[in-house]
Amino acid sequence: MTLTVTVAPRGAARWRRGHPWIYRSDVDDPGGTPGIVRVADRRGRVLGRALYSPASEIRLRLLTPHDEEVDAAWWHSRLEDAASHRWRLGLDCTAYRVVHAEGDGLPSLIVDRYGDFAVVQLLSAGLEAAREAVLAAVEAALAPRGILLRNDASVRRHEALPLEVIDARGNVPDLVAVREGTVTFHAALRTGQKTGAFLDQRDNRLLMGALARGRALDLFSYHGLFALHMAARAEHVVAVDSSAPALDVARATAEANGLGNVTFLEANVFDLLRAYERDGDRFDTIVLDPPAFAKNRDAVTRAVAGYKEINLRAMRLLAPGGRLLTCSCSFHVNRTRFEAMLAAAAQDSGRRIVLERIVGQAQDHPEILTIPETGYLKGALLRAD
Ligand code: SAH
Repeated sequence: MTLTVTVAPRGAARWRRGHPWIYRSDVDDPGGTPGIVRVADRRGRVLGRALYSPASEIRLRLLTPHDEEVDAAWWHSRLEDAASHRWRLGLDCTAYRVVHAEGDGLPSLIVDRYGDFAVVQLLSAGLEAAREAVLAAVEAALAPRGILLRNDASVRRHEALPLEVIDARGNVPDLVAVREGTVTFHAALRTGQKTGAFLDQRDNRLLMGALARGRALDLFSYHGLFALHMAARAEHVVAVDSSAPALDVARATAEANGLGNVTFLEANVFDLLRAYERDGDRFDTIVLDPPAFAKNRDAVTRAVAGYKEINLRAMRLLAPGGRLLTCSCSFHVNRTRFEAMLAAAAQDSGRRIVLERIVGQAQDHPEILTIPETGYLKGALLRAD
């Protein structure tokens, strides 16, 4: 029997406004176990079916506004819809996001495809309870050779779920070769960041591959993907990261792609930028793709100060006509704050900075206007006169 959970008017109003989450304080708590429930208002009117997480602040996540069975066939048809949307995008790559959680109407579910393999994240207790149906749907829709569950994302702690990595179907190798534009690389599915790579930056990497020239700098390089795209057109690229193991991977990938004009530098970007400025170095193309400096709302002020410092220094390093692609993946630093930070950095840089283009996450990571949490990556392409 399907459990019915009753919500307060404020909870019902959130769904009407197009946001799928209902918080603890707006739910009349029935107890029970995590899973898929029917949701009704206090008058008994059914509002739909949702994932239910009795231990989480986010109690309910809307799956469907209809009072319909969320069974194997339902999951299968949702997965098919998401997959066919990606085919229509005509992506120039073999690694892409098939399901972007709330962005695809499937809250707390991530499905990434890496060649013949799929990596899945179940990020709520309600979804974890539906694990077998979800895996069966992924299998049916994508026919992968194997499925890896990267259930080691820390958000699972808020759901009282264990952090674990599980081979759910078939044998999934540690490294899977994939292609992005002209660059091939090995995604580390078990141990890499996120599900193995930063797929959300694909469009921006392809953009910089097309625009790079002269002396180029890839700051916060991780596995070097921006650097390798830029190496095709730039004379020389310096890829910088503080992680030696990440740079080892980047070096091997450069070699495998026959790119000999990339130098790898283990350094703290903050220190390095100061040193370049002191030495009067100049670059024609710079990418600035730092990790999220603001992990929560309280960290925003400090984070913005950090972003401003590196942006201001990067602007000063641009040769006349040089371009900077600058990004932030902190959800808590929204577009408005990000652009204000860039304006402040430009002011202090002493350079005249042209805003050429505002960019965001790749198209396979759909951002829904009524669900701000689905959009976190923002960026700007700047040019210095
Ligand atoms: N540009 C990459 C993703 C970057 S992820 C891509 O497109 O795939 C952020 C990277 O910043 C990580 O590899 C991390 O090791 C590195 N990092 C974090 N703090 C740093 C610092 N202060 N200096 C240099 N690298 C840093």
